[in-house]
Amino acid sequence: MLRLAIQKSGRLSEDSLNLIRECGISFISSSLKLKTECTNFPLEILFLRDDDIPGYVADGVADIGIVGENVLVEEGKQELTVEKLGFSKCRLSLAVPKSVEYNSIQDLNGKNIATSYPNLLQAYLQEQGVQAHIHTISGSVEIAPSIGLAEAICDIVSSGSTLISNGLKEVERVFKSEAALIATKDLSQEKREILEKLLFRIHAVQRARKAKYILLNAPNDKIEEISDLLPSVKAPTVLPLAEEGWSSLHSVVNEDDFWEIIEKIKDAGAQGILVVPIEKMII
Ligand code: ATP
Ligand code: MG
Repeated sequence: MLRLAIQKSGRLSEDSLNLIRECGISFISSSLKLKTECTNFPLEILFLRDDDIPGYVADGVADIGIVGENVLVEEGKQELTVEKLGFSKCRLSLAVPKSVEYNSIQDLNGKNIATSYPNLLQAYLQEQGVQAHIHTISGSVEIAPSIGLAEAICDIVSSGSTLISNGLKEVERVFKSEAALIATKDLSQEKREILEKLLFRIHAVQRARKAKYILLNAPNDKIEEISDLLPSVKAPTVLPLAEEGWSSLHSVVNEDDFWEIIEKIKDAGAQGILVVPIEKMII
């Protein structure tokens, strides 16, 4: 059985659990349980504080884990990364009070900066040739300037609304982060095989999230033109309609290219266009 460590309760928890569920893996979760065995896949889930996940995986207490790259790199454990997972996207940024004039990173020379990420911040300041005093605190970093602890802060930002509501402005981006799947270095052959199976499912889920299944009707003399506009896994499926001279085309399009393709195929004569989500995609 493979042991997976995920965050017990916080910003990574829901997306981590959803990914496992979308992989068709069932388990009984309760807020009181710190450990659960999956019922239809050889996986055991441990629910932990996110800061502890890299250490548990590095020590082999957990075989794999899901954690933010910010925590992983801060703890110097980036070599455990298997792959990025595309959720919990955020950034580590420097911010100063709104009223302070800020021109460049050099303005922070000699200043006090409060953060929960001293290593990432130190590496960034060094790279920029700035010397500042780093005050490591474990939470509520945003209030540091208003209570006189520091002139600047370095903290996680996604929309920036927490900064704004604390009278701060973002001035530098220090590190870009998203959730990552990590694994211990010396997995047994048996566990490696389970991990491969899990990755196969994760990839099918991820591919499907970005793709849409598209169905449309077209006059037969337009099939070639429309087919050329439609990207597809191999080639679009073409089925005759009950109405003479018309066919139905089926294909898969990427969400990012979606609207551009729709406009083009409409102009080329496509009608009755349907777009449906895909649950899993194996190619
Ligand atoms: P724990 O109690 O497990 O230590 P925490 O309070 O340290 O939790 P959370 O705030 O739940 O951590 O954030 C967990 C991770 O989610 C962060 O390390 C970061 O990778 C990511 N994250 C944090 N804030 C955001 C956000 N606003 N949007 C998206 N992802 C975020
Ligand atoms: Mg934490």
